[in-house]
Amino acid sequence: MLQSPKRRILVIAPHPDDEALATGGVIQEHRRQGHIVTILLMTCGDGQRRGLLLPSKHFLRLGERRYRESLEALRLLGVPEKRVIALGYPDRGLAHLCVDGQTPYTSRYTKVCAVPYEWAYSPGAPYLRESVLCDLKEILERERPDILYLPHPQDRHSDHRATYLLAQAALRTLNGEVERRHYLIHYRAWPLPVGKYPQRRLLPPRSLRDGAAWLAHELRPEQIERKLQAIRCYRSQTQYIEDHLLSFVRCNELFALG
Ligand SMILES: [Zn+2]
Repeated sequence: MLQSPKRRILVIAPHPDDEALATGGVIQEHRRQGHIVTILLMTCGDGQRRGLLLPSKHFLRLGERRYRESLEALRLLGVPEKRVIALGYPDRGLAHLCVDGQTPYTSRYTKVCAVPYEWAYSPGAPYLRESVLCDLKEILERERPDILYLPHPQDRHSDHRATYLLAQAALRTLNGEVERRHYLIHYRAWPLPVGKYPQRRLLPPRSLRDGAAWLAHELRPEQIERKLQAIRCYRSQTQYIEDHLLSFVRCNELFALG
């Protein structure tokens, strides 16, 4: 499935860590085959339910920290910094950017209403649907991916569903075919068992098995080990939910086609 050289791969991740959890194995395989892999981070993960009352500076620092964690993890997976694009839209706020409007959304966490990071793709872009779509269309036009990894439409996290919807909207304006592979991160109590079980298979949730074709990508032992190391780079997250994150270290990764 990954034979032809120099294929172009784009992974769209709502938060820094989704790219490693969902595609940390297949990214390594694409790189091994010489494909060009680009990662697009929709948010920098600058929102967190715990600590909502902390000052906005805390969340801006968290965004910066999580972006750096992604760069470190992706370096391990073979993706250089220049192939990582951070959009910097609001964590836990992407659903608000799915509707057209003239008034920019204000993050409950950072208290800003425009992309606050100078290293982001469009610093200062107002938190509006129009801004996200403009960025996504430009990047899709420029990268022209052969394969696009994006969230599954049934993911239970609102930022993941919003990422799917925004990507779909941007793709409608793109000429040509893109192979789409949808990954799941948040879905009820999935995956089970919770924790690091690298010998076990990741299976689709029972309720999503019918009617969808799932592609299982098998990981080599060294790729599993490297994925584990990459996930451990997200220390801002592993300090709270390490067991959950390590539940994605399995002998395969799963993608719904369509
Ligand atoms: Zn996420």
